Parts: sequence; C-alpha cells; structure tokens
Amino acid sequence: MARIRISELRPSNTVVVATGNPHKVTEIEAILAPRMPGVQFVALGDLGDFADPVEDGSTFFDNAMIKAQNALDETGLRIAVADDSGLCVDALGGAPGIHSARWAGEPCDDAANNAKLLRTLDRVADADRGAHFHSTVVMLRDYDDGRRDILSGNGDCPGVIGREPRGEGGFGYDPLFFPDDTPGKTMAELTPEEKNAISHRRRALDDLAAQL
Ligand code: IMP
Repeated sequence: MARIRISELRPSNTVVVATGNPHKVTEIEAILAPRMPGVQFVALGDLGDFADPVEDGSTFFDNAMIKAQNALDETGLRIAVADDSGLCVDALGGAPGIHSARWAGEPCDDAANNAKLLRTLDRVADADRGAHFHSTVVMLRDYDDGRRDILSGNGDCPGVIGREPRGEGGFGYDPLFFPDDTPGKTMAELTPEEKNAISHRRRALDDLAAQL
C-alpha cells in the first residue's frame, strides 16, 4: 500500500531510495541529506507495491544501477539512490559476492546461507578465513535538458569468518563475520550504531557523499 502519493512530491527535490528496508532509508538519508539541502528522501516501498527488478548484472555497480533505474521507471521521479552489497570471501575467490543473498538457493534464506558458508570453509585454517563485505551505492539524477548524472560510491568492511554463528543483531552473514574494527565481536553482536559506524554501506555512502 502506498503511504506517500507520488503526485504530491516535487521530482527535482525528491530522492527515491530503491529499497523496502526502512533502516536503510534512515541510514542513507542521515549521510546524504546534509549534502543535499532541501531535498526529501522517500523509500520506494512507501510509494507503492512495485515488483523487484531482476538483478542480473555481473557487478555490484550493475545491480545497483538496475535498482536505481527501476525506481525512476516505476515512479517517474528524477533522482534515485540504490545500493548493492555482499560478502566476498578470500578463500573462495571473492564468492559469494553479488550472489550473496541467494547463495544457498531460492528464496533468500540467511540461515541456509550461513550453514553453507560454514560447510564450505570447514577445512580452511583460521589464518585463511579473511573476507570483506562490499557495498556499491549509485545515485542517478536526470535533468530537464536530458543530461544525466551518475555518481557511485564504494565501501568495504574487512574481517574474518568465524566457526559458529554468534549474536542476535543485524541480518545476513553478520553472525559469522568478525570485523577487523571490532575484535572479538561478530557483526551480529554490535549495536546498530556500532555497525553503522564501520559498515561497508556507511563507507560507500561516505564515498558518495564526498562527491556531492
Ligand atoms: P543487499 O544488496 O544489501 O540486499 O545484500 C545482498 C546480500 O548480501 C544480503 O542478502 C546478505 O546476505 C548480504 N549482506 C549485505 N550486507 C550485509 C550486512 O551488512 N550484513 C550481513 N550480510 C549482508
């Protein structure tokens, strides 16, 4: 159900954030809004029930572009932000990477993904369990004269994959991921504030904000 009417928004002063996750919108707005005075941030999910686009790009950037373009196509708005992220494991040559969400199959199942990660790394020594989360954030902005700005920011959060899930917070692979910045704690054991301070998304947004 649409909570905000598109017809009541001013396209040149509205950023549509291509996610249904309200926490992501809050985080994205907190970092980008100071650089975009007078601009309103709205979640795509608050504007209607739109089908998710097929994310068939071969890079994080491609998939973020697909989501941002879809948000513009669905709403007729002019500025969109989208992110795409995933876990890249050194011993797996960067997998699951862009396939992180559905690595253990359809539909997206965090517990099954984590079980597969533990199984796959079972014989990998502690010293070789390095990994990083990666995020790419894209902003598309269309102007009346047909010009288009494409900005993108990238961020990594390096760490190590543990041997059993720990912690109740976060989502996805958080219970198995020990960020280098928080020794002894998995990402799922951090408060949302602690996670947001060091996350790959935070770093990608800071990178994007620096270009605004
Ligand atoms: P998305 O692009 O943010 O939807 O992330 C795709 C997938 O990557 C998620 O379904 C998770 O499996 C994984 N992922 C991305 N960011 C995080 C994170 O902050 N913590 C844990 N897993 C994540």
